[in-house]
Amino acid sequence: MTETTQITPHSPQILIIEDDTTCSDLMEATLAKNGFYCHCFTGGNDALAWLADNVPAMIILDYSLPDMNGALLIERMHNLGMVIPFIMVTGSDDANLAVQMMKVGACDYLLKDATFYERLPAVVARTIHEAETMERLRRAEQSLRLSEARLARAQKIAHMGSWEWNVQTGEIYWSNELYRIYGLNPSDNRQINMKLVLGMVNPEDIADLKKVLLDASKYGKPFNIVYRITTSPESEIVVNCHGDVEWDEKGRTRLVTGTTLDITERTKAESEIRQLTNYDTLTGLPNRSLLHDRLKLAIAQASREHQLVGVLFLDLDRFKSINDTLGHRAGDLLLKTIAMRLSSCIRESDTLARLGSDEFVALLIGVNTAEAISTVANKILALVSEPIYIDGQETFTSGSIGIAVYPMDGDDSYTLLKHADLAMYQAKELERNNFQFFSSEMNIKMVERMLLESSMRKALEREEFFLVYQPQVDARSGHITGMEALLRWQHPELGLLTPDKFIYLAEENGFIIPIGEWVLQTACRQNRAWQKQGLPSVRVAVNLSAKQFGQYHLDEMVSATLMETGLEPKWLELEITESAIMKNAEQTAIILRKLKDMGISLAIDDFGTGYSSLAYLKLFPISRLKIDRSFVQDITTNQDDAAIAETIISMAQALKLNVIAEGVETRAQMELLSFNNCIEMQGYLFSRPVPAEQFAELLHNGLEY
Ligand code: C2E
Ligand code: CA
Ligand code: CA
Repeated sequence: MTETTQITPHSPQILIIEDDTTCSDLMEATLAKNGFYCHCFTGGNDALAWLADNVPAMIILDYSLPDMNGALLIERMHNLGMVIPFIMVTGSDDANLAVQMMKVGACDYLLKDATFYERLPAVVARTIHEAETMERLRRAEQSLRLSEARLARAQKIAHMGSWEWNVQTGEIYWSNELYRIYGLNPSDNRQINMKLVLGMVNPEDIADLKKVLLDASKYGKPFNIVYRITTSPESEIVVNCHGDVEWDEKGRTRLVTGTTLDITERTKAESEIRQLTNYDTLTGLPNRSLLHDRLKLAIAQASREHQLVGVLFLDLDRFKSINDTLGHRAGDLLLKTIAMRLSSCIRESDTLARLGSDEFVALLIGVNTAEAISTVANKILALVSEPIYIDGQETFTSGSIGIAVYPMDGDDSYTLLKHADLAMYQAKELERNNFQFFSSEMNIKMVERMLLESSMRKALEREEFFLVYQPQVDARSGHITGMEALLRWQHPELGLLTPDKFIYLAEENGFIIPIGEWVLQTACRQNRAWQKQGLPSVRVAVNLSAKQFGQYHLDEMVSATLMETGLEPKWLELEITESAIMKNAEQTAIILRKLKDMGISLAIDDFGTGYSSLAYLKLFPISRLKIDRSFVQDITTNQDDAAIAETIISMAQALKLNVIAEGVETRAQMELLSFNNCIEMQGYLFSRPVPAEQFAELLHNGLEY
């Protein structure tokens, strides 16, 4: 050492415990030159007494002291709670001793040999430096632990958990609060993995969550997502999860880290606020503001899908007088009852709103005809005029409805509502319990419909209905194998009507039941009559509507008709569409089975346009499939239609069902169908549907085509 460092009050203090004073003087002098300030003691007890009030940076300890050895001194020091770095010096080169002292915590061990004083300052400096580093580390660790505890507290207060997902190893780390959010106990030490995490997510939200996780892990995309977690069978919470990505040196995603915030309470509050601003407090129905939103959405959707939106504006007719005579509480009860009844008659996708006092609006979406809208209007009027009991007292009310239809009567929500409102006033002026369309064309249509309906009531008695028959042909031989009976209506004012003009109405108002019975009876009687005349026996196919499978005993009606007309069951075939079968599959299956057991054959009409679930149809006692006209039409030009027809034919063969193609108009269609093993056909190519007299001629003379 050539340079001397000045000792100042801030110099590190060194405690030297050494009974050899020559040695300790030399150490002190050497260390002082290097800027260390030394206190020297010759015995252990004196040193310990000094240590009670002072904390040196380190201790230089001679192993053998007069009053105790170095090991004992260190032990006492530790017992007093003092942790001070120390180095051992000793005169003897004793390896065991060195090991023993290192064990009790000595930082170093120095032999008093020739180079001892030379080496001492560096050893002291290094020991102090290391001790300081250790202390800094200890403090840092302590503050880290403190801040971790603080973070955990903050997360708990914020209901926020944090997590880390090691994309490369699949390991997941969760903070304690995150366990709590998920309803798990951190001390359970459950292994957190993706399967467990996703397993608790509401199934409706899983796809979205998986997508953001994939985008994060694969493409390094940060995310922010809200999803629901099922924490126990009866409770679900909503969380907002935010994720960030960390990369490794190679630019691959290494970690996805983030926070998960429990926002259940907030979501609840938000939905309460939404409820208050969007819903009517008395009835719980959407209010005007939400109605406008829904109407705007409905308009957008209808314009995309080329559909109508019906806006039905209902006003109760006598509400004010009820309110005045029975009081406000009764008025409220009445409104609630009406709201409940109306909710039951519109579909879930539709909207029922209350605009205030006694005004309600029903929004009908996905409708295609004014008829469908007026059906709902009629239902609403019927429900409104049913008696209402308030405090045991029977009360009557009625309503008037104005209807505006998008797009004819306006293409924005305000115009439509205004027009529906205006139409409602028109309805009120005409008579109570009535509805009016805004546009005059629609009102005309509705009047026509009402006329048609009322004339239908009389049509049966007046014998305006009649049947035409269309032959079903074996295309190989050209022989007639059967016929389909098709309904016609000779209307006194409107002329000859085909079924598409009136069957839907008959189905709606229930007239299909007596009309259907009449058709069956007439067809069976006619067929039996031809047989009696000696014409070739063929089966007659009669169309059944889905409605005929409803309320009453179809099988009994059919068997009574056969008895009455004397037609053998094997000459009767009933045609049903797939949708009619599926509407009430279980009940229909029972009825069909009974019909089949009587010996009647059953055909699926318009096959290929509906469910076409052959596996399912196998459960029904079907004998024939009628390939729908739409496939036959383009069979020679459209590959897809040809393929469908071909598939139906081969499926039918596999299931041992007969097939018939309907709507065969050209020779080319006939040839292609024959080529594909479809033998029976029906269509204009062979004959149009013809009246009975003409059909008898066809039966007698055979077909020409
Ligand atoms: P559907 O059962 O599919 O009857 C076949 C329809 O196709 C008949 O129309 C028939 O005239 C027509 N048609 C026959 N061959 C051809 C052809 O080669 N080309 C074309 N373009 N059309 C052909 P229609 O008589 O107007 O009957 C329409 C629908 O009304 C029937 O369809 C059936 O669903 C229903 N219908 C007819 N009569 C009755 C009935 O008595 N009761 C019930 N419930 N429905 C009936
Ligand atoms: Ca048919
Ligand atoms: Ca058909």
